[in-house]
Amino acid sequence: MSTTQTLRCRECSRAYPLRATHICEFDFGPLEAQFDYAAIRETISRDAIAARPPTLWRYHELLPVEGGWDETWPVGFTPLQRADNLGERLGLSNLYVKNDTVNPTYSFKDRVVAVAITKAREFGFETFACASTGNLAGAVSAAGARHGMPTYVFMPADLEVGKIRGAAVYGAGIVAVDGTYDELNRLCSEIADLYSWAFCNINIRPYYAEGSKTLAFESVEQLGWVAPDHIVAPIASGSLYTKMGKAMKELVEVGLLDSQSTRIHGAQADGCAPVAEAFARGQTTYRPVRQPDTVAKSLAIGNPADGFYSLKLAQGVDGVIEAVTDDEIVDAMRLLASTEGIFAETAGGVTIAVLAKLAERGVIARDDLTVALVTGNGLKTQEAIDGRVDARFEIRPSITSFEQTLADRGVLTPA
Ligand SMILES: *Cc1c(COP(=O)(O)O)cnc(C)c1O
Ligand SMILES: [Zn+2]
Repeated sequence: MSTTQTLRCRECSRAYPLRATHICEFDFGPLEAQFDYAAIRETISRDAIAARPPTLWRYHELLPVEGGWDETWPVGFTPLQRADNLGERLGLSNLYVKNDTVNPTYSFKDRVVAVAITKAREFGFETFACASTGNLAGAVSAAGARHGMPTYVFMPADLEVGKIRGAAVYGAGIVAVDGTYDELNRLCSEIADLYSWAFCNINIRPYYAEGSKTLAFESVEQLGWVAPDHIVAPIASGSLYTKMGKAMKELVEVGLLDSQSTRIHGAQADGCAPVAEAFARGQTTYRPVRQPDTVAKSLAIGNPADGFYSLKLAQGVDGVIEAVTDDEIVDAMRLLASTEGIFAETAGGVTIAVLAKLAERGVIARDDLTVALVTGNGLKTQEAIDGRVDARFEIRPSITSFEQTLADRGVLTPA
């Protein structure tokens, strides 16, 4: 049974059949998947979900696919870790980290790609592709490899080596574009039309985007079917952020929650903060950033497709969208690692640094139930902490040398 009815324009509400298209022909508004919530409500239940395998597909009724997904690829249902040590440092007593560093390709992008490739195959596409700020490239390449689909990933040429190798290893064609993400995204739109390739974040975007919702579904389930008071999420194109709003509403629509009033906060890096900047001005139109400049490259989208809708969502859910400096990002990466044992990438640093600001300002009160979304793994962005975490002792292979070093550093030696 299909639970997805149509695509619908977010501007004029015109309905479109379920095809590989993402923009309204009348006003260029973005298309979004619509579900038959009344039908889903009849069949879905907490118990039914609990009995399913621990992947994002436990919420398949709320994902726009007909079936045929990769059952054995362990995407999603990542740990929701109670974060008491970090909470103590930030003055929060009820803090959780949704740890998406442990997906198959080490970022939350495996969720959106799992939905995108299932749909691309359903539509009969033979080539799978994406425009990437880094993590998407790895997720697309790995999924393409599993399905035996040729894969092309387009990335800005200045990306971290970990992101490039982390895609190339799966056998994908890597296209390094000498330009910004926004420039290569425009190029990819043209290629998608000319070659009839499935670009997961362009012509397949309405399906792709729905995969993000599973971060919220899982968090609520893992909290024992309780809606958190706050979710803090990073913003690149704004897709993940806006889908947190859709997901929380859907949980009520289909009867998995009686009500919810979760405040959803957004996090950006100062070097590319078009959405946070508009939020600070109190406006819903943002000024694109032409030359993003931040260590948080995975979030460096200067002209975010869902920027306007992110600002609308923040208004609707009493959310705050903040930006933080590169130094704050790196400090937050170290804080999260040294308190909770989670080595997040720069985007995780952005989320935790914004969480810290919101706690300090009292936007998030001490006892509020809070979930911070940590969306990527630090092993892929090691250059961000280069020279910032050098704590090694260099010694000769002797006890004398070892003890001398400890003494020099004021560490006690054994009696
Ligand atoms: C892509 C990405 C995001 C969010 O991207 P949106 O385009 O806003 O959905 C967040 N964190 C990481 C690590 C990412 O790679
Ligand atoms: Zn329209």
